[in-house]
Amino acid sequence: MTVSPLEFLFPRKCPYCGKIIIGDRLECDICRAGFPQKPYIRIIPGGNECVAAFKYDGVVRDAIKIYKFYGKREFCKSFSAALAQVVYEYFGEPDLVTSVPLSKKRLRARGYDQSELIGREVGRLLSVEYMRTLEKIIDNTEQHSLSHEERKSNIIGVYKRLSGIRLNGKTVLIVDDIVTSGYTLSECCRILAENSDVRIICGTVASAF
Ligand SMILES: [Zn+2]
Repeated sequence: MTVSPLEFLFPRKCPYCGKIIIGDRLECDICRAGFPQKPYIRIIPGGNECVAAFKYDGVVRDAIKIYKFYGKREFCKSFSAALAQVVYEYFGEPDLVTSVPLSKKRLRARGYDQSELIGREVGRLLSVEYMRTLEKIIDNTEQHSLSHEERKSNIIGVYKRLSGIRLNGKTVLIVDDIVTSGYTLSECCRILAENSDVRIICGTVASAF
């Protein structure tokens, strides 16, 4: 395999182990071979099903942190490919893909919405339209810094459905990077299902439980 001048100067690295990868691979062969054989399935509060490609620990946790906090947005390709595969295997093809949004303040600080990037790529891989359906109107305390009980109340009223969104009769996949308590996804499902005859399924790169 030939290495392009760009790859030579800026080699791409495996998101999980840091080894240099060439060609169109998204991760190295060793990490790829170690991917879980089965998806992680959860029922989140409120009863919606959530499928995750990985357990949130070890090299996957490190990779997601680097993706979110150190600007490695190219990691979204590997995460999305793994997620698209488990979504397709477990649920089949949705009609629409959406994602849990960041607040405007956090989006400005980070420069990208990590879950939207994954949602858009999952949509592209499944040949399904991606659409923004929600906005985060309150910049609440980050869920991961709170206790399980605090997370439940911390999320109420934080998200709003965008106007003009019609979901009737659709199966909608909502994507997030990680599921922990499930309250964030649960609240987003509740809002999207309001006054709609819609089936909402959830997909995350990793599950903390
Ligand atoms: Zn690797």
